[in-house]
Amino acid sequence: MDPHARNSVAECLRQAHALGLARVDAQILMLHAMSRPLHDRAWLLAHDTDLMITAQQHSWDQALQRRLQGEPVAYITGRKEFFGLTLNVDARVLDPRPDTEILVEWALELLPSGQPSRVLDLGTGSGAVALALQHQRPAAQVTAVDASADALAVASANAQRLNLPVQCVLSHWMDAVPGQFELIVSNPPYVAEGDPHLADLTHEPLQALTSGADGLDDIRQIIAQAPSRLAPGGWVLLEHGWDQAAPVQALLREAGFVQVQSRRDLGDIERCTGGMLPACRVHETLTGSNPSIQCMHDPV
Ligand code: GLN
Repeated sequence: MDPHARNSVAECLRQAHALGLARVDAQILMLHAMSRPLHDRAWLLAHDTDLMITAQQHSWDQALQRRLQGEPVAYITGRKEFFGLTLNVDARVLDPRPDTEILVEWALELLPSGQPSRVLDLGTGSGAVALALQHQRPAAQVTAVDASADALAVASANAQRLNLPVQCVLSHWMDAVPGQFELIVSNPPYVAEGDPHLADLTHEPLQALTSGADGLDDIRQIIAQAPSRLAPGGWVLLEHGWDQAAPVQALLREAGFVQVQSRRDLGDIERCTGGMLPACRVHETLTGSNPSIQCMHDPV
C-alpha cells in the first residue's frame, strides 16, 4: 500500500488479513489507531467505510509494522483488559494472558467476600492478578511483590490509576515481605531456558519468563517459602507450564500441602496447581507409634 494513501477502515483490515495478522489483533490495533475503546468492535462494523485521517493512518501503519515484527498487541496499544480492568502495560512487564484469569477465578472461590483476608501476589508484573483480586474483594488486604523495580512501577501506577489499595513491595519472592497470609498466588516465570517457544516471546522481559533448565526453579523457591508464610488452612495457587502440573503437585505434596489439585485453562491444559497448608498439629505420643492428629480444615 502507498504509505501516503488514506484508506478506509475496511481496506486497512483487509490489508492486515492479507499480511497474516489475526483478525482480533487487527481489530484492536484499528480501534487504537482510531482512538476508540479497545472493546468497541461493533464500532468497526458501523464505520468500515470511514476514511482514516492522516494521523490515524500513520498510527495504523506504525501499529501494523510493530505487530508484524512480533510485538504483543498490548505493548502497541499500551493497554490490556484483564478480569474487567484496563491495565496499562509496556515492555517492562509480561503481557497479561487471558489464561491467567483462571488463577484469579480460583483465588476468588477461596476468598470470602467482606473478610479482610491477607493475600500475596508474587511476581505481580503489571499487577494484573493482585488488582483483579483487590477489585473483586475490596475488604482483602492485597500485597503485590516483584523483584523488578521496573515492573513494580507499572503495578503501582496501575493501582493508583484504578484507585485500588494494593500494597506494592520490592522483593525477591517472600524475602522482604513481612507477615502471614491466608492466600498466596503467583504467575511466576516457568518457561525452561532454551525452550523453542521463547523465540515467539522476544519482546517480553526474559526474567518474567524463564526459570532454570526445567522452568521450575522459581516455583520450587515459592513452594519452599510458602509454608512458613501461610496461616494454617491457607492456600497457595500457582500458574505453570503445560507439562508442569504433575511436578508442581509433587512439590506441593512434598512440602506438606493437602487437597493438592490442578485447574485447566481456556485451551483445556492444566495451567494452575494449588494446595492447602493443613491446619493440623501432629502430637506424637511418647512411644511415637500412635500420633494423634487434630485438624481444622477451614479453607481461607
Ligand atoms: N504463559 C506464558 C507463555 O508461555 C508464560 C508466562 C510465564 O512464564 N509466567 O507464553
